[in-house]
Amino acid sequence: MPEDCPFCGIIAGEIPSYTVYGDEDVMAFLDVNPLARGHTLVVPKKHHPRVSGIPAETTDAVFQTAGRLSGRVATAVDADGTTIAVNDGPAAGQEVPHVHVHIVPRFDGDDGGAIHSLFRSQASVSDEELQSVAEDIKDGD
Ligand code: AMP
Ligand code: ZN
Repeated sequence: MPEDCPFCGIIAGEIPSYTVYGDEDVMAFLDVNPLARGHTLVVPKKHHPRVSGIPAETTDAVFQTAGRLSGRVATAVDADGTTIAVNDGPAAGQEVPHVHVHIVPRFDGDDGGAIHSLFRSQASVSDEELQSVAEDIKDGD
């Protein structure tokens, strides 16, 4: 376990947290600097920096837990919806290098916007590029 990883510290019980779920592979706790009341983080118990490095069983466990908890989180704070998101890599704004799924409660009329509001403009991609990227993804590992 990396000594400076705060989430490994929480999982090891060395850093306090408001834990809302735990099993053999997964833990969930409240974000300490929440974007909204009830903002929850779901993490694999084993340290993985990036989503692409997680074994399939762990990915299943983490995302199944996020799916199950999203309803409970929303109910707990009387939210109208949730944004479920991962900042995967520093380029995407990931600050803690231990994979975590954010569950952010959303309220009608809040100022959060959709994931699309992360960008001021859309990428301009031709049909040929869409085709070529789709093939690269399909044929990739
Ligand atoms: P990200 O930018 O996706 O890496 O988000 C990291 C999140 O972890 C931020 O929303 C922080 O508020 C949250 N965070 C950092 N340290 C802790 C901690 N000790 N307990 C709970 N949440 C934390
Ligand atoms: Zn860690």
